[in-house]
Amino acid sequence: MNNKKILITGASVGGNTVAWWLSRHGFNVTVVERADNFREGGQNVDVRGAGREVLSRMGLEQAALDLTTGESGTDWVDEENRVIARFAVEDIGDGPTAELEIMRGDISRIIYEPTRKCAKYCFGDNIVDIVQDEKGSLVTFNSGSTEYFDIVIVAEGVGSSTRELVFPGENRMRYMDLTIAYFSIPGKDSDGKFARQYNTTGGRGATLKPGADGNMRVYMGVHKVSENEQKWSVERQKQFLLDQFAHDGWEFPRILKEIPGVEDFYFDVMRQVKMDRWSKGRVVLTGDTAWCATPLSGIGTTLAIVGGYVLAGELAKTDDHTAAFAAYERIMRPFVKEGQGLPKIVPRLLWPHTRFGLAFLRAVMRLAGTKAMRKIFSKLYLRNSKKVELPDYDLNFDRVRE
Ligand SMILES: Cc1cc2nc3c(=O)[nH]c(=O)nc-3n(C[C@H](O)[C@H](O)[C@H](O)COP(=O)(O)OP(=O)(O)OC[C@H]3O[C@@H](n4cnc5c(N)ncnc54)[C@H](O)[C@@H]3O)c2cc1C
Repeated sequence: MNNKKILITGASVGGNTVAWWLSRHGFNVTVVERADNFREGGQNVDVRGAGREVLSRMGLEQAALDLTTGESGTDWVDEENRVIARFAVEDIGDGPTAELEIMRGDISRIIYEPTRKCAKYCFGDNIVDIVQDEKGSLVTFNSGSTEYFDIVIVAEGVGSSTRELVFPGENRMRYMDLTIAYFSIPGKDSDGKFARQYNTTGGRGATLKPGADGNMRVYMGVHKVSENEQKWSVERQKQFLLDQFAHDGWEFPRILKEIPGVEDFYFDVMRQVKMDRWSKGRVVLTGDTAWCATPLSGIGTTLAIVGGYVLAGELAKTDDHTAAFAAYERIMRPFVKEGQGLPKIVPRLLWPHTRFGLAFLRAVMRLAGTKAMRKIFSKLYLRNSKKVELPDYDLNFDRVRE
């Protein structure tokens, strides 16, 4: 079915990956992205296990390795930045810091650059209506144009509007009770090459991560029941952080001073996407749209890359899209289950509310950081990024090596 017209909506990691593979399998691919230009933003993301294997099959692994953040590992620290537990990459490999840790915009661009030479990209537009018949979908765009496609792939991230249009009410969100902000602040010489994770009481905590550009990436979170804070204005979200952390020590005074002027501010309520089905007729979901596992899983980007590879490969194998979608689900479901399998007690323990909870967390981390326990802890803490058997699809095409 390689002459078929496929529309992908969303040009981030998931959308670009499926576009890359579909183009190589010979499909006629269009990608529509709501943002006016390619989206550069985002902080550190990890590519692990099967995700690295797919990047390697694309010939893009080295390009990604060349752009890693250079973070040497993760330290759990106290108020004075004294190390409670250290997890160094050179010591344990993929741990709380992944071997291939990269900025979200960089990994997305590495896949986008070769793909835009063989797929058509339309920025600044989005789907407003889809009418399906037995042969395909008539898609109406916000710009007013309409076009007929054989298949529509939705890769719009956790808050996808097209998912709600085609599968209204089917997403059973699983809230992880964490409200989190990501942004950058200027670095200092004393910051070093290790990420620092600090927690205090009241469910508050933050990670400071060194960036390759000399800035520090801040992840700041509060463990609380969601009030849909992702829908607030940026001003209100910033004020929320200023109020929550106003009386805290550690690096918080330095961080709070920067918040009003921060530009790359990303704020969200961590929630998993739970869909009983990923396709309806000729519309299929992938990446965070289908199964967002949240950054807590450490394998959200890996799942998006692997999902794109499998979906494209299964579509290339058969003319029967229903069979292709069924095979895609069969292969991806166990991997997604692994990614989403984090019990909600974990964020609760990692973001303690009481002095006792904080003392308990630090005692556990002290033990976890010992030589005997470091690897075991990393395995328990992280989701298994290899829990999928990657099929070999017909690779009878020229690999892109930019
Ligand atoms: C700007 C940004 C910053 C991020 N920062 C981080 C981070 O710091 N840490 C982290 O772990 N994860 C971050 N993520 C999420 C991370 O990229 C994903 O969890 C993961 O890589 C899976 O990617 P995805 O392609 O499925 O979804 P996403 O990366 O969320 O991409 C979805 C894409 O679809 C586009 N889109 C949304 N709605 C529509 C629509 N209706 N029509 C057309 N296009 C649409 C979005 O603009 C985006 O480009 C960020 C995502 C974005 C978009």
